[in-house]
Amino acid sequence: MTAAERRPTVPCLVGGVPVGGGAPVVVQSMTNTDTADAVATAAQVAELARAGSEIVRITVNNRAAAARVPEIRARLRDQHGVEVPLVGDFHFNGHVLLREFPETADTLDKLRINPGNVGRGARHDRNFATMVQAAIDHGKPVRIGVNAGSLDPELMDRLMDENARAPEPASADAVLRRAMVESAISSAQAAEEIGLAHDRIVLSCKVSRLQDMVAVYRDLSARTDLPLHLGLTEAGMGSKGIVATTAALAILLQDGIGDTIRASLTPDPGGDRTLEVRVCLDLLQSMGLRAFRPQVTACPGCGRTTSIVFQELAQRIERHLDERMAVWKQERPGAASLHVAVMGCIVNGPGESRAADIGISLPGTGEEPRAPVYVDGDKVTTLEGPTLAEDFIAMVERYVEERFERAPAGAGAAR
Ligand code: SF4
Repeated sequence: MTAAERRPTVPCLVGGVPVGGGAPVVVQSMTNTDTADAVATAAQVAELARAGSEIVRITVNNRAAAARVPEIRARLRDQHGVEVPLVGDFHFNGHVLLREFPETADTLDKLRINPGNVGRGARHDRNFATMVQAAIDHGKPVRIGVNAGSLDPELMDRLMDENARAPEPASADAVLRRAMVESAISSAQAAEEIGLAHDRIVLSCKVSRLQDMVAVYRDLSARTDLPLHLGLTEAGMGSKGIVATTAALAILLQDGIGDTIRASLTPDPGGDRTLEVRVCLDLLQSMGLRAFRPQVTACPGCGRTTSIVFQELAQRIERHLDERMAVWKQERPGAASLHVAVMGCIVNGPGESRAADIGISLPGTGEEPRAPVYVDGDKVTTLEGPTLAEDFIAMVERYVEERFERAPAGAGAAR
């Protein structure tokens, strides 16, 4: 199966954003502020949304947090001018908080319930039912989010016992994977029995190891038509976290599995939380599943280009395109699919530049100081001299104007 042949899932509307049903894969993120600090949380939600997060999750972990959710929504709207669906993440006490803070339940656009963290035995079923009923009463969808780190121990014990009695017992990892899928599927069935509509449920089964994640989601997707939220939980820091996340998500997305994604990266202390959003955007765009901003193909450079001219130009173009995209988003949304090449020498420069919408092949060391420019595969001019960068940027601007239609006023791309 290829990404173009995605498994059809039932569409679920989350605060106006369609998830599943063939809709474009949705990018999500999560705040790491104290939700009780409404000022900081609203500011971070706004930052994540501006970076491109289409749904933002906030933890609702205690009464102080629950009480501030309506204020966070108001601050987003009034101070930041941001409308983005907000998901409340509930563990352990969601049944209490949703009952005590009906305005919060009303304000949120989706409730995340972790079936492993809603109590044990009869209390589990009662608490789960209370949360699902709150979703029904307030007209909200639910994500049933199973997590390997908080899997229902009773379910796990039962499956382990069954496995021990089997003629050929599976490995403990295989039982854990099966337990996660069982937990998600049976919780969705229970939610529907309580009265939640089938098209109001999203499922996720998060694990922290790549191969486990791929196996779990392949199994899950074969057993349900509900939309799936993908994420490699606790992916880690730095390049390791980014690589592990993108590898896991890409394998599944390429199979047509996944309707919404998050990169659960651990930021450096005081680091930029929006990195997790940018990773998702870049991943979806690299895979050709979405177009968010113009792409710049730049070669890595080598001994053939000893000056940093082309690196500076590539950086400048990238910055220019990012700045302009904020305007083009409204005026010429098609510009998100623009492909620009900035190449370092004659070896691959002309070829890559021809393959881009517009590309420039800069001179390498010892080459004639002239830079041919290609538009839609044809060489159209050669630039040189101190205004080369400005001249090329002006050509890119002209290209966007001519190639991408102006959107009717107020009809800019929402997603
Ligand atoms: S295009 Fe030229 S400068 Fe760039 S990596 Fe290839 S050989 Fe090196």
